[in-house]
Amino acid sequence: MAEVVRESTTVVIVGAGPSGLTLANLLQGAGIACIVVEARTRSYVEQRQRAGVLDYHATQIFERAGLGDRVLQNSVGDALQEFRVDGVPHLVDIRGLAGGRGSRMLPQQILVQRLIATFLDGGGDLRMEAGEVDLHGLESDRPRVTYRDATGAEHEIECDYIAGCDGFHGVSRKRIPDEAVTTYSFDHGIGWFTVLADSPPPQHPLFGVSRHGFAAHFPRGPKASRFYLQCLPDDDLQKWPDDRIWDQLRLRLGDESLPAGAIAEKAVVEMRSFVVDPMSYGRLFLVGDAAHVITPMGGKGMNLALADADVLAAAIRAAVADGDEQQLRDYSATCLRRTWRYQEFSRWMTEMLHDSGDDSTAGPFRHQLARARLERFFSSTALATSFSEMMAGIG
Ligand code: FAD
Repeated sequence: MAEVVRESTTVVIVGAGPSGLTLANLLQGAGIACIVVEARTRSYVEQRQRAGVLDYHATQIFERAGLGDRVLQNSVGDALQEFRVDGVPHLVDIRGLAGGRGSRMLPQQILVQRLIATFLDGGGDLRMEAGEVDLHGLESDRPRVTYRDATGAEHEIECDYIAGCDGFHGVSRKRIPDEAVTTYSFDHGIGWFTVLADSPPPQHPLFGVSRHGFAAHFPRGPKASRFYLQCLPDDDLQKWPDDRIWDQLRLRLGDESLPAGAIAEKAVVEMRSFVVDPMSYGRLFLVGDAAHVITPMGGKGMNLALADADVLAAAIRAAVADGDEQQLRDYSATCLRRTWRYQEFSRWMTEMLHDSGDDSTAGPFRHQLARARLERFFSSTALATSFSEMMAGIG
C-alpha cells in the first residue's frame, strides 16, 4: 500500500471559493503559511458564475491588504439603483447617500480568477482536485486534514488551524457534533428563477415591482445580464421556455423593448436562509457559506463570506504573531453580528419588494403594508440612507 504523504503547515484552508481564496491571500500577505485544498478543478472554480457585486466594505478588505490594484482593477460601480414600480422609475443615489462609499461590479468568477493568480504568483500552495477531503482532531492542538490527490496519493496535513471555507455542502460543518451548535433555517416561501443571458446590462441595477410578480435585472459585465423572476417555490424549469422568460421580464420590468439574448444558464434559486452558531469548533473556523446562507436579495452572500475571511485573517495574525487568541475566541460572535444584520436586511427587502407586487401570496393586508413601506422608502432620506449604507456593507 502506498505511503501517506505527511505534511505540516500553520493553516489549512478547505475550499477555494471567494472566502477561502481571500483568506489565503490575506494570510500570505501576513507571512503565515497556509495550504488550500479544493475539491474541484481550477477551470471549474474560475468559471463558476454567481455573485456580481463587491460592496464597499469588501473592496476595503483588498485595498487595506495592498491587493486593490490587482484584485479590483477595471471594476466600476453604479451610483444609482432603480426601483421600477408598476412601470414608474424611482432612482436612489446609493453611493451619494452612503457618503461616496460605493460598491463595485466584479463578477464572482473574475474575482476568483484574480485571487488564484495573485496567490500563486506569491508562491501560494493551492491543491485542486482533492478527493475524499476530511477533517480530524478538531479539539486537539494539531488538527489534521486528509485528502487523496488526482494521482491517487493520500495526504495528511497537520496544522494549527483549519478554515472551513467549503460552502454550504462542504465537509467542514458536518464534522462539528450536532449538539455543539444551534442551526437556524428559514424558508422565505417564494421561489426565484434566475437567468444568465448575453443581453445588454441595465442602465442601473434594476428591481421591478408589479402585480405580475417581482423581477430584477443586474449587470454582469459589458454584454451580460443576470435576471431574477419570482416564481413558485417548487417551480419546474421546464415550464419556463425562453419565450415565457422574456415575456415575463418585459411585463414585470415595465419595458416592452427589453431585448432578448442567448440564455447561458437557467436555475431555480432556493430562497432560504441558514445560520450556524457558533461558527467555530475547537480549532476549526467556518467561513462564508459553510456557516451561513442568505438569499440573493441585497447581494450579500459573497460579501459576508469575504467579511468573515477578513476577521479570521486578523485573528490568526494576532494568534501567530503575538500569541493572542482572544480574537479567535471572538471570531464567531463578531461574524454573527454582521451576518444577522444582513439576514434582517435581506428579509426586509424581500418582503418590501415581493409583498408590494403580487398580492396572491402575501394577501391583501401584507400587500398594503409593503406598499406603505415602499412609499416611506422613496420619501424618507433617513430610510434611504440606512438602505444605502447596508448596500455598501457599512450599516
Ligand atoms: P463557495 O463559493 O461555495 O466556495 C466553496 C468552495 O469549496 C468551492 O470551490 C467548492 O468546490 C469547495 N468545496 C466544497 N466541498 C469541498 C470539500 N469537501 N473539499 C474541498 N473543497 C470543497 N452573493 C452575493 O454577494 N451577491 C450576489 O448577487 C449573489 N448572487 C448569487 C447568485 C447565485 C445563482 C448563487 C448560487 C449565489 C449567489 N450569491 C451571491 C452567493 C455567493 O455566490 C456565495 O455566498 C459565495 O460563493 C460564498 O463563497 P464561499 O467561498 O463561502 O463558498
